[in-house]
Amino acid sequence: MLIEHLNRQLLELDAAALRRRLRTHTTPCQPHLQLQGADAPLLAFCSNDYLGLANHPALVQALADGARRWGVGSGASHLVSGHYEAHAALEQRLADWQAAHIPGARALLFGSGYAANIALLTALGEATATLFCDQLNHASLIDGARLAKAAVQRYPHADLGVLAQQLQACATPLKLIVTDAVFSMDGDLADLPALLQLAERHDAWLIIDDAHGFGVLGARGHGCLQHFGLRSERLIYMGTLGKAAGVYGAFVAAHPSIVEWLLQRSRTYIYTTALPPALAQALQTSLDLIEGPEGAARRQQLLALIGRWRAGVQPLLAAAKGGQGGQGGLHLPDSHTPIQPLIVGDNARTLALDAALQARGLRVPAIRPPTVPVGSARLRLTFSASHTQADLERLLAALAESLQELSL
Ligand SMILES: *Cc1c(COP(=O)(O)O)cnc(C)c1O
Repeated sequence: MLIEHLNRQLLELDAAALRRRLRTHTTPCQPHLQLQGADAPLLAFCSNDYLGLANHPALVQALADGARRWGVGSGASHLVSGHYEAHAALEQRLADWQAAHIPGARALLFGSGYAANIALLTALGEATATLFCDQLNHASLIDGARLAKAAVQRYPHADLGVLAQQLQACATPLKLIVTDAVFSMDGDLADLPALLQLAERHDAWLIIDDAHGFGVLGARGHGCLQHFGLRSERLIYMGTLGKAAGVYGAFVAAHPSIVEWLLQRSRTYIYTTALPPALAQALQTSLDLIEGPEGAARRQQLLALIGRWRAGVQPLLAAAKGGQGGQGGLHLPDSHTPIQPLIVGDNARTLALDAALQARGLRVPAIRPPTVPVGSARLRLTFSASHTQADLERLLAALAESLQELSL
């Protein structure tokens, strides 16, 4: 019986401390989140709204204006009748941003980063191709590789030596290296210049998922390619619009022939309703904010918060029972992006720390397998430019108390 079967499996999830729970909030996306039924708002360190744009008054106004101009829905997929001037203008601007790095780039909008990654890997990953994938790539890239007809080789996280050997030994005519730019659970940056060199040496292409870099990295927030100052026709760029950009959707920017092929062939582009044009219009305001002085100031604030967090948490870890890196100790990986994990290891202890922080009015999510490798359960903090210094001091104080209470 299906229901009994599922209920048994759900109990197993409970027993392994792996059951996920949905939380309902009654406030918009912001650092102080009100949970339905709770007395007071929680100070949250878990959204991907890195620049604090999701609830920015100028964007709220832009979306209202967009809805007045375009209505709410697009009514159809892009290739039927759902493609409007607002989409075309946004695609042009996104292409212009990346054209400094990918000569002649064209951009194509998708409903989400998940859909864009499935599109890229299935449309380009034909039977005569090999996909070379970092083992810590995002789930959407893993699923895209599973659905592709191409052969798939995974290399240990960031291990370019192994990747070079795999490329050397590969005989398929088309080779595609696939990587997150900022790894979503660890916050570390892929060595994109070295990956591009490998691609050039082995006549391969480099597919980059910049979900966490777009808006955050680069002098003007254009993302990881701007950050590293890369330039090559071999770059295939995917950026998302629901994280730092504060709205929803995603895009691919690449050589025009690649983009045209995606439009012809990718099922997650063709068989789905187009993003509402009002969102495309609002996203222009988001891009204005990102590349203007306000975006620069917000990125500056973000860097200050990250620096203060790393400086403030080190002494807590040194004082913790196991000591940094020691048996049972906590570990702070070397991340300089707004994604700041604190690795605990054990699932139940990670949940206990999550709960202890929540008891102090903080929301810092525990991330467990299978999202991260077994034995590396962690708190995954993310910072936003809308956090204040006071928020950060409150976080450090609550963490110190919680570690002591749990004698971690
Ligand atoms: C969030 C995320 C995606 C998916 O993007 P959505 O627009 O949320 O579907 C893809 N890749 C990475 C690395 C992500 O973190």
